[in-house]
Amino acid sequence: MADKHYSFFEGVVKNFEKAAPYSGLKSGLLEQIKACNAIFAMRFPVKLNDEGDVEVIEAYRVQHSNHKMPTKGGIRFSMDVNQDEVMALAALMTYKCAVIGVPFGGAKGGVKIDPKKYSTPQLERITRRYAAELVRKNFIGPGMDVPAPDYGTGPREMAWIVDTYMSLKHGELDGLGCITGKPVEQGGIVGRAEATGRGVFYGIREALSYADDMSKIGLSTGTQGKTMVIQGMGNVGSFTGLISIAEGGIKVIGVAEYEGSIHDPNGIDISKLLEYRKQNGSILGFPGTTTLAHRGSALELDCDILVPAALENQINIDNADKIKAKIIAEAANGPVTPEAEEILLKKGCLIIPDMYINAGGVTVSYFEWLKNISHSKFGHMEKRFSSNRYKNLLDTMLELTGKEMTEAQKAYLTSGADELDLVRSGLEESMVSAYQAIRKTWQADPSIPDLRTAAFVYAIKQIGADYNAMGVWP
Ligand code: NAD
Repeated sequence: MADKHYSFFEGVVKNFEKAAPYSGLKSGLLEQIKACNAIFAMRFPVKLNDEGDVEVIEAYRVQHSNHKMPTKGGIRFSMDVNQDEVMALAALMTYKCAVIGVPFGGAKGGVKIDPKKYSTPQLERITRRYAAELVRKNFIGPGMDVPAPDYGTGPREMAWIVDTYMSLKHGELDGLGCITGKPVEQGGIVGRAEATGRGVFYGIREALSYADDMSKIGLSTGTQGKTMVIQGMGNVGSFTGLISIAEGGIKVIGVAEYEGSIHDPNGIDISKLLEYRKQNGSILGFPGTTTLAHRGSALELDCDILVPAALENQINIDNADKIKAKIIAEAANGPVTPEAEEILLKKGCLIIPDMYINAGGVTVSYFEWLKNISHSKFGHMEKRFSSNRYKNLLDTMLELTGKEMTEAQKAYLTSGADELDLVRSGLEESMVSAYQAIRKTWQADPSIPDLRTAAFVYAIKQIGADYNAMGVWP
């Protein structure tokens, strides 16, 4: 539930206003940065069956900031969708893009439906009609506004949208760049599905690498052996868990899903849990785990890192006191309410803010858009060139030193980077350098109270610099 005093958008504004005085920008410019530039609220009819029964669907697309074009942000399918939520998520996208260094403005879309209640053909009709409405009002296009998946949507919906767009804008050269998160066969990019979760892992790993910061919250550096609890086993939560275990040696001791919470102090095998949930429709009863009292119980487990990866407002005034995690990595957007944050900060918890930690998705979406408008696969031109150069170097070294290597070692050292290597490398670079930039902002002004405020200050300064450079016209 939300706290009493703020809607989701008001919560984002409150965080913005907490940071604004540290930015050094004038009040008029701050007002412009804060405001949502364009709100498209729509109602459209969809025929649900052959008898012609019609349902009217409520949906939105909000462009928060056009200081950079195109604008960018996911599309959410959920019964909780409303204008305030879409405005909040669009605003977060603006700050997220600025923090991570992706040259887009922020936007977001939402369709107020429960996707589980519709058949696949019905969902396709709703999605395509929504896309057609966006085309009609110029709220989609590779240079205009580029959606992506979010809660309740994935590559399938993106494929329907790009096909609708291409049908209506037949022959548009860069048309594939109208949306990201597409299936790879339809112009998507390898590594997009895992990108947000992988970015969450890189961000946590980076935060854990600073001895000064960790000693303040009573943690040692490094990911190895740290305990984690995840809320939400969807796209973001599942990849965060899988990658944190495989590449960080982290132990996931608790999982919260819609149907309830489970706990195993020895660590839960996330890939087996996902398989179990696919077969049983629930995480409850997964071998080796105990079922906790209620849906949100896992959030209250004693752990090093808590990863809320479901929805907003999950850590609020009702449960903030019971949270024991030393780090909260906000994989979802807005999972901690402003009132809960005050309580958690007093307890000394490090909150790694959503606008940074879940920016891996938009980062790789940016790579996908670049791929679409350049009409070429990453690594295609240089892979063989690099590989041949490494082979020549290695052969020369082995000849000069008289040493030998196995074929497997040679293959490893001489392979050229393919698309997945480059996507992961670009994502890692973006996550690491953005964390360093936020941390530097925080260190440069000790009166900045917390990491979220530091991230906002950094983002506001970037956007302010853009406005100051381009001016306000007319
Ligand atoms: P998803 O639909 O794939 O998964 C969400 C999961 O959360 C589902 O498994 C759902 O059952 C579960 N859930 C819902 N309510 C819950 C509750 N009360 N308790 C526990 N579990 C619950 O969605 P996603 O794409 O993984 O997005 C999750 C969050 O991450 C959202 O806030 C979204 O805005 C944010 N996000 C997503 C991306 C992305 O690339 N998909 C990028 C940035 C941020």
